[in-house]
Amino acid sequence: MDKKRDCWEWTGSISQHGYGRLTISNNGHKKTRSAHRVSYETFVGEIPDGLTIDHLCRNRKCINPSHLEAVTIKENVSRGNPLWKQEAARTHCKYGHEFTEDNMYKYKTKTGGVCRNCKTCMKARTRKRYTLAKLEGMC
Ligand SMILES: [Zn+2]
Ligand SMILES: [Zn+2]
Repeated sequence: MDKKRDCWEWTGSISQHGYGRLTISNNGHKKTRSAHRVSYETFVGEIPDGLTIDHLCRNRKCINPSHLEAVTIKENVSRGNPLWKQEAARTHCKYGHEFTEDNMYKYKTKTGGVCRNCKTCMKARTRKRYTLAKLEGMC
């Protein structure tokens, strides 16, 4: 068996999100942790602050450290969700301007989602808007 290629499926309990889960007892306090995070910490190293562990194999039950990668939460979300869904969930732009009816441009995407751009930001940086829109993950 090729250890690097095959998924190591977690056979213990599974969380409601489909991730392997284990319970650790610490001085009588029980703590539930994600199995893949524990695996990463054991085989690879500490998970840096603010990073989440992404499954390169997309198998949530997998705890093979060669299939795990520490990524920023944003990266992880954009891999698993269509862009417009993330966009719809946002209440503020990247720079903290609230998406109010007056402060956004709304438009439909080809996939049927609704995209919003922050007017304040767009006004401030009209000339650079295309590159910025790309950088910020706007539709
Ligand atoms: Zn895997
Ligand atoms: Zn803004």
